[in-house]
Amino acid sequence: MFKTNYHSHSEFCDGTGKLEDYVKSAISRGFDVFGFSGHAPLPFENDWTMPKSVLQDYLNETKRLKSAYKNIIDLKIGLEIDFVESKMGPSDQFYKELQLDFIIGSIHVLPDIITGEYLGVEYTKSEMEQLINDTYNGDAKPLVKEYYKLIRNMSKKGGFEILGHLDVVKKTNINSIYFDETEKWYKDEIELTLECIAESDQILEINTGKVLNDPTRIYPSPWIIKIARKYNIPVMLNSDAHRPDRIDNYFDEAKKIILNAGYTELMVLKEDRWISDCID
Ligand SMILES: [Zn+2]
Ligand SMILES: [Zn+2]
Repeated sequence: MFKTNYHSHSEFCDGTGKLEDYVKSAISRGFDVFGFSGHAPLPFENDWTMPKSVLQDYLNETKRLKSAYKNIIDLKIGLEIDFVESKMGPSDQFYKELQLDFIIGSIHVLPDIITGEYLGVEYTKSEMEQLINDTYNGDAKPLVKEYYKLIRNMSKKGGFEILGHLDVVKKTNINSIYFDETEKWYKDEIELTLECIAESDQILEINTGKVLNDPTRIYPSPWIIKIARKYNIPVMLNSDAHRPDRIDNYFDEAKKIILNAGYTELMVLKEDRWISDCID
């Protein structure tokens, strides 16, 4: 099978290392294809996306690398674009015009109705708790339901190929402190969301970033990957690397989980086409 990863963050956004360090790491680890997916700028100040002022530099540098290394490795230029309802999203004409090789659609933030700021659902416990308390009366359930409703809205609007870390809202939910993934309402949200993705032509990302030394904490959870298989949703494997030495983090463990869910193939963007590739 081809060795690929399309989800990476350099020092252009919240990762460490230069884009070229990622290319060198990918070559040394035997990658066939490697994709850049810096966080696209958001319409408010934050410390984790690239500011709008450097987007062009990012595009120039990724183009330079793609051309410089074209005989050694197939490099792909992408962005991870947030869906922020009624403000921005992967379907914006602006991104269409960039003619990127691929786009990852993700949700990282929800609005706090008291302060008006956007807070991370997958960033820190304190931001998650501020959101739960300010906007959802201390109850995580409506927050989680809102998160999945927005994922469905993003999926319906389209404009991207890869749906990023579907259940990242569980990131700070260690030991089920905010909600219980085994409850019926949560499973219903997942089913509804996967039904929606199955009707699109989007690829569900299996993401090994942020697993905190526990591969069963991949995104989405193994039981969700099994339901995705039932819906015949195509999947791909990404590391969401924020360091050049982590571009294939937990890939072997993740492949076992994906095979165990009943999948035998992963989606791969090779040259200019998406193809399915046997897992081995
Ligand atoms: Zn992300
Ligand atoms: Zn990412």
